[in-house]
Amino acid sequence: MANKWVYLFTEGNAGMRNLLGGKGANLAEMTNLGLPVPQGFTITTEACTQYYEDGEKINDEIMSQIMAHITKMEEITGKKFGDKENPLLVSVRSGSRASMPGMMDTILNLGLNEEVVEVLAAKSGNPRWAYDCYRRFIQMFSDVVMEVGKKFFEELIDEMKAEKGITQDVDLTADDLKELANQFKAEYKAKIGSDFPSDPKDQLMAAVKAVFRSWDNPRANVYRRDNDIPYSWGTAVNVQMMAFGNMGDTSGTGVAFTRDPGNGEKHLMGEFLINAQGEDVVAGVRTPQKIDQLNEVMPEVYSQFLDICAKLEGHYKDMQDMEFTIEDKKLYMLQTRNGKRTAHAALKIACDLVDEGMISEEKAVTMIDPRNLDTLLHPQFDTAALKAAKPIAKALAASPGAACGKVVFTAQDAKAWHEKGEKVILVRLETSPEDIEGMKAAQGILTVRGGMTSHAAVVARGMGTCCVSGCSEIAMNEANKKFVLDGKEFHEGDWISLDGSTGKIYTGKMPTVDATIAGEFGRIMGWADKYRRLKVRTNADTPADAKKARELGAEGIGLCRTEHMFFESGRIDAFREMICADTLEAREAALEKILPVQQGDFEALYEALEGCPVTIRFLDPPLHEFVPTEEGDIKKLADAQGKTVEQIKTIIEGLHEFNPMMGHRGCRLTVTYPEIARMQTRAVIRAAINVQKAHADWNVCPEIMIPLICDEKELRFVKKIVVETAYAEIAAAGSNLKYEVGTMIEIPRACLTADAIAKDAEFFCFGTNDLTQMTYGFSRDDAGKFLDAYYDTKIFESDPFAKLDQNGVGKLMDMAIKLGKETRPDMHIGICGEHGGDPSSVEFCHRIGLDYVSCSPFRVPIARLAAAQAALNQ
Ligand code: ADP
Ligand code: MG
Ligand code: MG
Repeated sequence: MANKWVYLFTEGNAGMRNLLGGKGANLAEMTNLGLPVPQGFTITTEACTQYYEDGEKINDEIMSQIMAHITKMEEITGKKFGDKENPLLVSVRSGSRASMPGMMDTILNLGLNEEVVEVLAAKSGNPRWAYDCYRRFIQMFSDVVMEVGKKFFEELIDEMKAEKGITQDVDLTADDLKELANQFKAEYKAKIGSDFPSDPKDQLMAAVKAVFRSWDNPRANVYRRDNDIPYSWGTAVNVQMMAFGNMGDTSGTGVAFTRDPGNGEKHLMGEFLINAQGEDVVAGVRTPQKIDQLNEVMPEVYSQFLDICAKLEGHYKDMQDMEFTIEDKKLYMLQTRNGKRTAHAALKIACDLVDEGMISEEKAVTMIDPRNLDTLLHPQFDTAALKAAKPIAKALAASPGAACGKVVFTAQDAKAWHEKGEKVILVRLETSPEDIEGMKAAQGILTVRGGMTSHAAVVARGMGTCCVSGCSEIAMNEANKKFVLDGKEFHEGDWISLDGSTGKIYTGKMPTVDATIAGEFGRIMGWADKYRRLKVRTNADTPADAKKARELGAEGIGLCRTEHMFFESGRIDAFREMICADTLEAREAALEKILPVQQGDFEALYEALEGCPVTIRFLDPPLHEFVPTEEGDIKKLADAQGKTVEQIKTIIEGLHEFNPMMGHRGCRLTVTYPEIARMQTRAVIRAAINVQKAHADWNVCPEIMIPLICDEKELRFVKKIVVETAYAEIAAAGSNLKYEVGTMIEIPRACLTADAIAKDAEFFCFGTNDLTQMTYGFSRDDAGKFLDAYYDTKIFESDPFAKLDQNGVGKLMDMAIKLGKETRPDMHIGICGEHGGDPSSVEFCHRIGLDYVSCSPFRVPIARLAAAQAALNQ
């Protein structure tokens, strides 16, 4: 049998999301529930993939199924494309598996041409409506299908409004709109070189192709990468009969959430506009009305809508985000989906749904996107400072969080300043999908226009970026990069602070405080801990970081980078002395100075960890990273060493390596300078003995981790040094301290020979930053230069240094675990690369049987939740 590429809404259901996309599957589900949905059909995501496989062509089989479904749709609706009596107009809407709000384009009122618009005008007795539809169609079609910039059309509208002396689109008359439609078509012809297509079927096929193409536009590609959505999924296309919200004062369009997406409170939240269509509410063309006001204008419709909201939420057992249109007092549902929400709202809604008996704890744990938690873990404004400060304005609290930064006026500037290390607040009249990258780069977003469902608000909430929208008090001068607010003129570079939770705006730089896990956050984390198997440790080098991580739930330190302790003033001098020493005795003398300091650091770390395991990695970077580069510092070092500047420079030059990342570093430093490992072992062991003595109920057991091992004999050599030193220390103290010696697995050869290495390694810990770098054969510090080209050409879909490469690096890990456990079945194995805090990588670590992941302190809760989801979804 031939493939089925097209489904009527009556043929689908919510379970068919992969095939029909989220929008299509939910339109089908709402149809099944008996809700008023304008009927139509969905062209599958597989058809999109096929389109690309066929070299960006719609093949005959798909084409003929689309045509057959147009006929079916005509039968169902009793309307016909291009008909002189009862013409069919449709919308063409994209919809992939995962919702990508505003990322792809929709065309409304398709099916109109010069004749059809006259038919509509005459038959409805509402020519204004007919021409409004027509000009909108030409505008959207041109923009989407032919990629003629929106702004030309907007300019024509603005000119028309100026000429007529009006400010609102709704004040344009039928004749004005007819004239605009003509101007638009002329514009189209001028830009494209051919007439605007008049055959509805040609229009439709062009639109379908445009939706398929939009899957590959740069905006969509950036969004997918940020949200972990594979390119291979493709998008479905929904073709749906139009419902008209622009027929006059008994019509309108709106969007609503069953619960507040900002704070999760249980009440309907939404906005609508009378006599409007499609994106008008979102685009901020006029300021929309609050949803409750619908009760005053059209009470029957309002009560019907409330019923539908309750039905949908009960059915999907989650907060719904819905789009509706009212056509002459008749309500139509155009979309429903599990609404995007802030992290704070996500936690509250999940807990409330459990308390309301709608869902289980397990379900609540799986409902929360771990990446979202990030926003809650970042600093908030200091409450005292906040109380003392006087806001200069208050607008909509569109996306919570605390942000302060320097004012910039364009997305490009936001990106450029951010790359220079500046914190910026992007201030715009309104944002559009072109601004995505700038929005991402900004600490916060402030807009003059637009409501709670405006582009800026929705996208900022999705990204977890603070946003205050609709601040109409701002007198904006975008062209000259300035604005006036509260009588003060703001220029590019001025500091401003936004509170996305209250909508308040402050001048200057407001102090911030750290976040804590309490309330609903604590409840969800408690449930997560109940269901996860993976332990979560942290990467921390200082007692302060370690303490923070403990507060956030870390169960140990997976990686303490000892070299970070050397950089502090007072210590770096001794370390440089060691590097410049000519003899073993001189080196040992310098190390002797470092020993007590390092011991003190370790004691503080063990104290902070309260008896939990602490993995300490021995010196890792190449020595050249520690020597001075400034003339003055070199002179200082020379004087301290009783050497000449020339001699020091010769030593520094001697440290030069062609490829330091693959040079004299890690355990190779121990092979050449065993005295460094001896000193570090003494510090680790002495500290542990002291802390154990002070806390009899703790079980202090340091784990000494040797970096960059590539051969079993190499580890045996280093381990011998460690064990002999440790034995002497423990014996001298009369202690019975236990400790472990293990290795970091970060070189492919170590994975390949893990069975042999495990003979001496009591544990493994994957250093996936280096392992990724060594497996790919390119440097993580230089990859930035070409990764963009790799994304553009679809060779890579994500950054392998951020998201673990499961096929290559993951295969090496899997092999190393199996080989290692053959030799030493009870060894513990973890990961301490950046990947340890990335949810999809955590899921993989769970699957291949790691004992723990270790990540930076602020990622600990994310990893805890991701680990629970991995266990629950398995
Ligand atoms: P997005 O995925 O960006 O939300 P949509 O496909 O939902 O895009 O459509 C954009 C706008 O057009 C929405 O406001 C939607 O409600 C409206 N719309 C889509 N199809 C129809 C239709 N058949 N009748 C009326 N309005 C429609
Ligand atoms: Mg929509
Ligand atoms: Mg490393």
